[in-house]
Amino acid sequence: MTELERFPSGRVRFGGQEIEQNEFEDICIHCGACCGAYDGDPCIHLHRDENWLYYCDQYEDRLGMQQTVSGREMECVSILQMLDDEWIGDHLCGYKKNKSGINRSC
Ligand code: SF4
Ligand code: SF4
Repeated sequence: MTELERFPSGRVRFGGQEIEQNEFEDICIHCGACCGAYDGDPCIHLHRDENWLYYCDQYEDRLGMQQTVSGREMECVSILQMLDDEWIGDHLCGYKKNKSGINRSC
């Protein structure tokens, strides 16, 4: 699955459950791993705030070809397209942890 399945209510399906869009967004812990925070060559659009949480400076227009800080071309894709892949720091990703069922206690 690469697209988020949306219901007429605006709710979405993830981890085998129907949840609110904001609940889906809140699964992200802003670790930055999917954007290269721990591989030594992150995306140029990745930044860290004063609370050490990572954010994208062009989140609404992020998908497509981007560059890393070293100038390497890379493609930004939906996190849903990465859930079956492995990348450095992927053990942190809330979506990977919850892809088979949302565990609200973790
Ligand atoms: S453009 Fe994509 S890869 Fe780059 S920081 Fe934003 S979300 Fe991450
Ligand atoms: S790896 Fe997962 S939890 Fe971390 S910033 Fe990316 S989407 Fe969010």
